[in-house]
Amino acid sequence: VQVDEEGNGDASRIARGINYVVHQLDEQEKWRQVMMEDLAHELRTPLMLVSNQIEAIADGIFEPDQTRMEKILRDLSRLTRLVGDIERIIQAQSARFELRLEEIDVVPVIKQAIASLEEAYRAKNMVIELITPKIPCPILVDVDKMTQVFVNIVYNAIKYTQESGKIEIITEHMRETGQIVVHVKDNGVGIPQEELPKIFERFYRIDKSQSREAGGSGLGLTITKRLIESHDGRIDVSSKPGIGSVFTVSIPASSM
Ligand code: ADP
Repeated sequence: VQVDEEGNGDASRIARGINYVVHQLDEQEKWRQVMMEDLAHELRTPLMLVSNQIEAIADGIFEPDQTRMEKILRDLSRLTRLVGDIERIIQAQSARFELRLEEIDVVPVIKQAIASLEEAYRAKNMVIELITPKIPCPILVDVDKMTQVFVNIVYNAIKYTQESGKIEIITEHMRETGQIVVHVKDNGVGIPQEELPKIFERFYRIDKSQSREAGGSGLGLTITKRLIESHDGRIDVSSKPGIGSVFTVSIPASSM
């Protein structure tokens, strides 16, 4: 191990590397702690609802009729969804260490995501248009995780758009910046300007009651952002209430 006078030798490089890793682990630990507190809080409410109702039935206050049981089932399935999201967010959190990278064109990844949402967008009588460039769009990604990214973004576009709405997915290969860029554009409800920075926060939903009906947990975009960042990419959003939203994902192009 050699060190020169400016401290640019192997030893100081290694020391800088260790500092960086320690800092990252520290940040992760903080993130995990806040996450656990949020989780406990989010799980408590639906759990209380279910146990109160079952208690009332046991005490003979409520009849265990169909309506009552269906209500309990709905609360339970919200809990199940929440637990599923929690599993995914924990996976996304450690994604950087577990990426199974493959070189692939972004277009089949997007097509796979669209195909898995067919039932959802057909049920709302919506169309999804995919616009691709003539040149290839190669990326080096964990295909399952990147598919999950586009499923989350496109599913939101479906959820927050009225019946018969339209989604446009535009893919570009920006040669100058070396980025593959995907815009997911909807003509749905849109997002007020002041809410834009918050939608990537854990459990954040703009209209809580509406999102709850749509089955949202407010974790989707948190997971999505972390997955994209673990591929050295970024996600941006622009939106106008009543007009629609555009989510833009940029990932470094790979030299396939
Ligand atoms: P959720 O599970 O509630 O959909 P997300 O983390 O995926 O949670 O999104 C957070 C919030 O951002 C949503 O509750 C919704 O209010 C808003 N949002 C996300 N995508 C869109 C979109 N395409 N159009 C309008 N609002 C959106």
